[in-house]
Amino acid sequence: MALIELRHVKKEFSGKNGKITAVNDVSLDIEQGDIYGIVGYSGAGKSTLVRLLNGLELPSSGEVIVQENNVATMNNAQLRYFRKKIGMIFQHFNLLWSRTILENIMLPLELAGVPKSEREKRAEELLVLVGLEGRGKAYPSQLSGGQKQRVGIARALANSPEILLCDEATSALDPQTTDEVLDLLLEINEKLGLTIVLITHEMHVIRKICNKVAVMELGDIVEEGNVIEVFKNP
Ligand code: ADP
Ligand code: ADP
Repeated sequence: MALIELRHVKKEFSGKNGKITAVNDVSLDIEQGDIYGIVGYSGAGKSTLVRLLNGLELPSSGEVIVQENNVATMNNAQLRYFRKKIGMIFQHFNLLWSRTILENIMLPLELAGVPKSEREKRAEELLVLVGLEGRGKAYPSQLSGGQKQRVGIARALANSPEILLCDEATSALDPQTTDEVLDLLLEINEKLGLTIVLITHEMHVIRKICNKVAVMELGDIVEEGNVIEVFKNP
């Protein structure tokens, strides 16, 4: 069984003029260790798909199965535990500006009830992992965009998730910084065996680090497979 399985997933929202279908009929398998890219224009349904993967949205029909758990049948306690095991990073980093880097990274550990001394030790290790050793006492406003995203990655990894979801994680960064952050994601994928699902509107991101890609258009996957195969035809 694949790590993540989507079977005929549909997600509708009710809008002013009736129903909006954000995701129409999506089936896909994401395997352990994949760096799986979902690419498409704005409005294609990418964010909704990611929110379905971490249980923030439930499908209108179809099944979302993550690590053999059907997201729709979990109770609230199970969902909370499930979300803790899925890290997430964002376009605008979503850091707390009044807290230091170290405090930002420790936040998910605090929420998980990890004792203070252990939190600090873990956060220091994560700082080393993302290449920000010695910057723990700085505030987010003192860091560059790329460094902020490194903090975002460290925070996302705090509870040792097996899956990292990236929502346009490099879209606010310049090309060189984008490449540096992508190199870090690749390193983490290799070092920790972390499965990464990333959504982007940038083909370059897909080509650089993904092994698998799904192209989304108007709520459907119109192409899917190995990056090399999918991009063979210009
Ligand atoms: P993308 O991430 O590819 O830009 P989204 O998943 O954000 O696409 O959106 C897909 C479609 O679903 C869009 O038409 C969007 O307006 C609509 N949509 C997304 N979330 C909601 C919501 N909570 N309520 C109503 N419509 C939504
Ligand atoms: P960045 O400038 O790092 O790209 P954004 O502009 O996307 O970050 O900011 C994300 C959110 O944080 C926005 O709501 C913004 O108003 C807020 N924000 C950004 N910088 C600061 C800061 N130094 N202090 C407080 N809030 C901030």
